Amino acid sequence: MSDVVDVAIVGAGPYGLSLAAHLRETGLDYRHFGMPMRLWQAAMPKGMFLKSQGFASALADPGHRHTLEAFCRQQSLPYASYGLPVPLGTFVRYGQWFQDGLGLDVEEVLVAGIATRDGHFELTLANLDRVLARRVVVAVGVEHFAYVPAPLSGLPSSVCTHSSAHTDLAGFRGRTVTVIGAGQSALESAALLHESGAAVQVVARKAALAWNGEPLALDRPLRQRLKEPEAGLGSGWNTWFYSNHPDLFRHLPRGTRIHRARTALGPAGACWLRGRVDGQFPVLTGHSVTSAQTRDGQARLTATTSGGSSRELLADHVIAATGYRADVARMEFLGDQIRRQVQTVAGTPAVGRDYQSSVPGLYFIGPAVAPTFGPVMRFVFGSRHAATVVSRQLAAAADRGSRRTVAAGR
Ligand SMILES: Cc1cc2nc3c(=O)[nH]c(=O)nc-3n(C[C@H](O)[C@H](O)[C@H](O)COP(=O)(O)OP(=O)(O)OC[C@H]3O[C@@H](n4cnc5c(N)ncnc54)[C@H](O)[C@@H]3O)c2cc1C
Repeated sequence: MSDVVDVAIVGAGPYGLSLAAHLRETGLDYRHFGMPMRLWQAAMPKGMFLKSQGFASALADPGHRHTLEAFCRQQSLPYASYGLPVPLGTFVRYGQWFQDGLGLDVEEVLVAGIATRDGHFELTLANLDRVLARRVVVAVGVEHFAYVPAPLSGLPSSVCTHSSAHTDLAGFRGRTVTVIGAGQSALESAALLHESGAAVQVVARKAALAWNGEPLALDRPLRQRLKEPEAGLGSGWNTWFYSNHPDLFRHLPRGTRIHRARTALGPAGACWLRGRVDGQFPVLTGHSVTSAQTRDGQARLTATTSGGSSRELLADHVIAATGYRADVARMEFLGDQIRRQVQTVAGTPAVGRDYQSSVPGLYFIGPAVAPTFGPVMRFVFGSRHAATVVSRQLAAAADRGSRRTVAAGR
């Protein structure tokens, strides 16, 4: 084996693992780095359920055998394609089962730097080992991109944290907590806090909370199915398009892509969460936090309506469940040289139909490419498209490379 591997995969969440499952079949020589399913283990609260349906929460293997359904069947766990929320703990165990069952060898070390050298990529690992690769696929998800709105960003972490900082909300029992946001993460965190004995309040910019509808019956009449098709990300024709045609989404005008990648499918709570929120604790809608200070160990927030009227809120702690914003500038492991060379769309890597960036041989998959391939990239469901396309491209590229080598040797 040469000292240069064909492919290095950076990231071992649903996208990295799905890609590895596909690459194994190609016979390419690859190495895989990252902490398997780390976001799901280290940045989500205990007691959480997935919002995506069971069938849309499967990682992608080429044989469709290592599905969430197969895992639940083997482990005698409750499962339904539709309508039965998947517990976070089940999903984390499923990721491990997927990795073990397919024999995916992940090296549990982070990549600290990537640079180009003599026509290859040189990866510096956190343990200072160096690895040379012909191609690199970046699948680092969202953990580098936690977003905290400017008015809150000056508060110390003792009084304000991003939602990703918490795996156990029970520690807030007996304290007052203000949760900022109106998406699933905000609403579910607030419900878990309330159920753990915290005095919780939600502050949301929107005039009213939005809730997703119940999943539609699979056996509903054809006319209804045509009117509102059900797909991986939910129901309706727009959602069907996002779910099934990331390849066509990329042909939409740039402004439309950026807008839809950011705004489609959210923020809204899952239907099964509604009863745990409505009427259970105060929700202040139509208000944005415009300033924040700490006083006597508490956070003092000013929440303002679009009309300009303000009120003051006091809390022992503020949780910003305000999501993630992918940005090449925050991918420090890429190194200055590569970050300068990667062309961007709204701060995210601009990629072609093969997920390859403007740096030849450097690919990006997952949430970072939602402004190119659409909202499906923000969800596990998009991993099948990414893994299929990228593994095919990498195999074809390696094949072209070896044919060139043979020709040169004649
Ligand atoms: C609270 C919450 C709930 C969600 N619920 C759902 C849901 O129900 N259904 C759904 O489909 N999606 C959900 N999502 C979206 C979810 O983030 C994505 O679907 C999914 O995690 C994307 O997978 P990924 O592989 O791109 O990234 P991740 O799962 O974030 O994995 C990233 C990987 O990259 C690795 N990594 C990062 N930096 C480096 C580095 N420098 N070197 C090496 N490795 C690195 C990490 O160790 C990790 O292995 C949720 C997100 C959040 C925050």
